[in-house]
Amino acid sequence: MAIEVPQVEHLNRILPEEPLLMMGAGPVPIPAPVAAANGIVINHLGETMARVTDQVKRMGRYIFQTESEWLMGVAGPGSAAMEMAVANLVWPGTRVLSVCNGFFSSRLAEMASRAGAEVEKLQVAEGQGATPDSVEALLKRYRPQVLTIVQGETSNTTHNHALPEIAALARQYDCQVIVDAVCTLSTMPLEMDKWGIDAVITGGQKGLSSIPGVSLVAFSNNAWQRILSRPEPMRHWTLDATLATNFWHRASYHYTAPVSGLLALHEAMRLVCEETLEKRFNRHMLCSRALQAAIATLGLELYVSTEARLNSVVGIKLPNGLEAKDVCAHISKYYRVEIAGSFGPPIVRIGQMGEQCRVHNLFRTLHAFGSTFKELGIEVDVPAGMAELENQLQKTSNERT
Ligand SMILES: *Cc1c(COP(=O)(O)O)cnc(C)c1O
Repeated sequence: MAIEVPQVEHLNRILPEEPLLMMGAGPVPIPAPVAAANGIVINHLGETMARVTDQVKRMGRYIFQTESEWLMGVAGPGSAAMEMAVANLVWPGTRVLSVCNGFFSSRLAEMASRAGAEVEKLQVAEGQGATPDSVEALLKRYRPQVLTIVQGETSNTTHNHALPEIAALARQYDCQVIVDAVCTLSTMPLEMDKWGIDAVITGGQKGLSSIPGVSLVAFSNNAWQRILSRPEPMRHWTLDATLATNFWHRASYHYTAPVSGLLALHEAMRLVCEETLEKRFNRHMLCSRALQAAIATLGLELYVSTEARLNSVVGIKLPNGLEAKDVCAHISKYYRVEIAGSFGPPIVRIGQMGEQCRVHNLFRTLHAFGSTFKELGIEVDVPAGMAELENQLQKTSNERT
């Protein structure tokens, strides 16, 4: 044979001896039942799978806060769900208004443009949430049929806190709203029906604490009508939402579902339901705010001011002369904690999504984080930061986090 058998190492020799604590912008640590489910393969069709998908849809309606039937999974990253929402609701000539706060919201604009839409961007100043006034001005002038927006812009840690008002405005102008909730779903309130949102997207590996590679999208009844009224079929066969109903609503074949990942997602969603959204939101808020206060006490600066700051991912300014990649490499090598750099701004990011919001993970991460800066020559007060974390958690919570 022309191509010889390659010499490769066993995976154990590549992976770290001790798993790293995943405190970056996703993937996040997964609970044991999720990991166990991810190790199982069953028939992708049939009675058992039908019961699984039925439960995923029912749990999804609670987590997305919608009564819509049109909730479905997609094999692929969060981006595949984004593309599924965009490419089904948009066709050549559709006018799309994209609210752009950073990297991921701009990706939605790019997807709309590739699907043939005429895209108008509302470029929001770095580190700020979009205001209803600025959106309304463009709704009035441009008359878009679809608006795209992120709830949380993971890339620079900003929160579009005016999302409910913006969605209500869009509705007044007869414009459908696609919300990217990849990093925020189940970490903070999002009420699809009450806020009048037409499509919500999420991935597995962030707030839900499942594995990457299986994502969810929910369409409102209005959105579904729009999809049915398309002047031409979707150009992407795999992402066609009407074909996806074969699997998600008729227990038959569209493509082979990512069986193990779907079982993992089921378990992750079951844990959300068991915890309840109220308690989960509260856990995220308490943990993230305590972490933010502790980081400030270390002597470091948070990137986004309080009004527009995202809790799901915390951005920390890098002191002059320090590079994100050096901070991330140091904390990983010496403390076995993974955090994230960024796609532009001079920050590092610590995730507060799902399993990342646990008290023991916070203490380990803050200690590792403060010590890393100290060892890289930055003056930080690690004991004061640790004490602040403890004080904040004592003060705010008697819930188990
Ligand atoms: C992570 C993320 C995405 C992309 O998800 P992938 O799984 O990497 O495709 C999109 N939007 C937001 C807000 C995200 O945080």
